[in-house]
Amino acid sequence: MSEFPHVLPTYNRAPLAFERGEGVWAIAQDGTRYLDMGAGIAVNALGHANPDLVAALTEQAGKIWHVSNLYKIPQQEKLADLLVENTFADTVFFTNSGTEAAELAIKMARKYWDHEGQPERVEILTFEGAFHGRSTGAIAAAGSEKMVKGFGPLMPGFRQLPFGDMDALRAAISDRTCAVMIEPIQGEGGIRPLPDADLKEIRALCDQTGALLILDEVQCGMGRTGRLFAHEWAGIAPDIMMVAKGIGGGFPLGAVLATQKAASGMVAGTHGSTYGGNPLGCAVGARVMEIVADPDFLAGVSRKGALMRQKLEGLVAAHPDVFESVRGQGLMLGLKCRIAPGDLVKAGYDAQILTVAAADNVLRLLPPLTITDEEIAEAVDRLDKAAGALDG
Ligand SMILES: *Cc1c(COP(=O)(O)O)cnc(C)c1O
Repeated sequence: MSEFPHVLPTYNRAPLAFERGEGVWAIAQDGTRYLDMGAGIAVNALGHANPDLVAALTEQAGKIWHVSNLYKIPQQEKLADLLVENTFADTVFFTNSGTEAAELAIKMARKYWDHEGQPERVEILTFEGAFHGRSTGAIAAAGSEKMVKGFGPLMPGFRQLPFGDMDALRAAISDRTCAVMIEPIQGEGGIRPLPDADLKEIRALCDQTGALLILDEVQCGMGRTGRLFAHEWAGIAPDIMMVAKGIGGGFPLGAVLATQKAASGMVAGTHGSTYGGNPLGCAVGARVMEIVADPDFLAGVSRKGALMRQKLEGLVAAHPDVFESVRGQGLMLGLKCRIAPGDLVKAGYDAQILTVAAADNVLRLLPPLTITDEEIAEAVDRLDKAAGALDG
């Protein structure tokens, strides 16, 4: 037998394996209970083993798992109805991941211009620090050195601009631009929110030039910021939006939402997926939507986000050598660090708390949206312990 890892070693994994979960708690094989402030990177939006989601999944599992998009799928139609009723969108296509949502968003925007008789209109403007997934299209879109090196030739037709540099965008956008693609809050890039005024101006620039606005809400959407989708804070709407992570509550599920106009090129036969929109994923996704789209639930996320932020400000003040500042919105928060955030992630394991590092020296906190006030206080105590181990 070869000595090479049987699981392709593209991840530097922590030596932890979890056997089960309960709400915000992930329980390791040795029984140790970890407070999970990463939630599988914003995926377990309603916590581990949420009884409502377990019921939705097991009920569907006893009926039918897979049928193919050759047939009508009522669970898919129900979830699409919920998404259309609660957002700007007229139509939805389901995927299994954020990456697949990025692929379709790119294809849909280019197909729109082809359909409009302007097939040369292919350039998509994207932003440095962005993350849209790991397919060849998504890495070309984000363009980060780490993600693209050695994988060339890259798909042409993307231009990266500095994140938040509105002068650069004003200069780059024209009536030859296909689309602008951006995360309202960069996740992997380090919890970097785009000011509402910038998002409004991007919408206006797209309206003036005809360019389509594609928002990547894979990480910041599904209630994470205290609104169902983060762009709602700016009072604007995209033409196309990518969703994934939280929408399945842990079941692999993604979606592209679009206006009728933006989707007009995607006629029968232009796109498809074997598993996308399968009954299992959509049964769970519909339950997630019913819970998260409730205004009271979203108000709770905002309130708890403000509470956590206030406590984190105190943590920053208590450990000025470790932390610099707090940023983000709702329960999508980042601690800008003065030390390598990976060291804090490791110290967190000793304090039985799970966090996630991001670019720009940021430690990410993306707990289940169901976290309680007491659990927020406990998380900050454990972070205090982890930071204390690294003080000085
Ligand atoms: C995670 C993520 C993706 C990719 O999603 P996968 O499900 O990992 O393919 C795309 N965009 C953003 C903003 C993400 O956070």
